[in-house]
Amino acid sequence: MGGVDDELEITRTDCPQCGAEVSGIEGRYACTLCGWTNDWSQGHRPLPEPEEAPEPPLPLR
Ligand SMILES: [Zn+2]
Repeated sequence: MGGVDDELEITRTDCPQCGAEVSGIEGRYACTLCGWTNDWSQGHRPLPEPEEAPEPPLPLR
């Protein structure tokens, strides 16, 4: 009880554009000063994969 297993981890980095310290969650950052954001793929968690691959369009015939 009272577990914190799914608590988000707060991380920090320096903005590569303006050098400001940026706080983020799970390795994802968005600078409020210059608008820089890092790629989601750089986060600590993998992106969720789609459950199904989209079906290819049926060939016309
Ligand atoms: Zn910045």
